[in-house]
Amino acid sequence: MSELKSTDNKGVSQQARESFFVEIKKDKCKGCRLCVEYCPTKHLGLSKEFNKKGRLFARINETTNCIGCGFCFAMCPDAAIQIYPKDEGRRMREEG
Ligand code: SF4
Ligand code: SF4
Repeated sequence: MSELKSTDNKGVSQQARESFFVEIKKDKCKGCRLCVEYCPTKHLGLSKEFNKKGRLFARINETTNCIGCGFCFAMCPDAAIQIYPKDEGRRMREEG
């Protein structure tokens, strides 16, 4: 018997929702908001602080999850975003 997986109303499984980690290189970001507008899960927003360029930069919204669709990576004109499997992201944060 196959195990049922919980899905949201777009058919995205909980497992998929928790599988990715987004890294934003804040000093590369120019705050254009393209990633914010295109993220289907509202996982990205703009900070209230300025980066070295004097711009508000993209940041992660901790109350939502990344499904790894890659839209933000594809849209960013400044290559300020990377997406990793969650385990790899956790390892990167631990190693600093
Ligand atoms: S990969 Fe998709 S879900 Fe994840 S932050 Fe980027 S746009 Fe949002
Ligand atoms: S698309 Fe890139 S440059 Fe624009 S706000 Fe997002 S991370 Fe910053």
